[in-house]
Amino acid sequence: TLKNVVRVVPLKKPYKIWKHWVQLAGHEGIFHKKTDGNVLKLYSESEHRCLQELMGDVLQPFVPQYLGVEELDGKKYNLIQDLLTGFDNPSIMDCKMGSRTYLEEELTKARSSPCLRKDMFEKMMSVDPEAPTLQERAEQGVIKLRYMQWRESLSSTKNLGFRIEGVMKCDGQRRKNFKKTKQKEDVMKVLKYFTGGCIPILRIYLERLEKLRSALEQSPFFRRHECVGTSLLFVHDASGRASVWMIDFGKTIPLPDFVTVDHRTPWAEGNKEDGYLWGLDNLVNILGDILSK
Ligand code: ATP
Ligand code: MG
Ligand code: MG
Repeated sequence: TLKNVVRVVPLKKPYKIWKHWVQLAGHEGIFHKKTDGNVLKLYSESEHRCLQELMGDVLQPFVPQYLGVEELDGKKYNLIQDLLTGFDNPSIMDCKMGSRTYLEEELTKARSSPCLRKDMFEKMMSVDPEAPTLQERAEQGVIKLRYMQWRESLSSTKNLGFRIEGVMKCDGQRRKNFKKTKQKEDVMKVLKYFTGGCIPILRIYLERLEKLRSALEQSPFFRRHECVGTSLLFVHDASGRASVWMIDFGKTIPLPDFVTVDHRTPWAEGNKEDGYLWGLDNLVNILGDILSK
């Protein structure tokens, strides 16, 4: 079992920053440094707990290896396997899973203390100037929850149970403009662009996702967690190597003892369903459709 050891790392540049380290999505500045083959992600308690538990779960082959907690420059980090290691100029895709991107507890918090976000209002305006209501326009702000729900229905989160957050191709070209990628056909186009339509790569992805689905259906960890905001990280390169892993467990939290979920039933407030498996079913079907054409 993994020990929760806090190692203190000296301040003098202890790590070489590999030039091929790529952060496709997520918060800026939280992946500070990298040791050979590993990355440091700013510490989150739930991520720590999940990764630790996952090391002993049937899902272990589908998550990066967890190496424990490190301290650097007065801050705590989780030390995680760099999944890009061993790939040569990889193409990468981050796919955020589930039909909901906020926790039920965030909903409760947002209701009791709604806080107006100007940054989110501006992001909303830049995508669709028609989206904010008259009141939001007058206040020049939206509450976070409203912004997240708007993003869910604009993208494929609501109708397919996953959404593409970002893609980087082997030539380094990055695309993050998938906020309106919503319909099955739109997703198919992105998947073809990402894989270059390469059949063997698409096959490896499909097989890996089918194995992941079986593991999820058997996983004690998965059965007992509300999984929100996690992603599948797709990586392949020109050598034909390809794989997918589950990442980002900052919003994956244990379910209350009396609640059970199947990860497929539609969400209704209180049932804690996250739509993870429903989204994975859709993703598997879409890959299958591309391959059968
Ligand atoms: P969010 O805003 O979705 O909560 P986050 O800030 O929690 O994101 P992650 O989703 O964990 O961050 O990671 C962001 C990006 O960093 C991923 O899209 C991926 O490109 C890269 N990344 C994260 N973990 C790894 C890893 N173990 N190996 C390689 N790349 C990784
Ligand atoms: Mg993420
Ligand atoms: Mg996260």
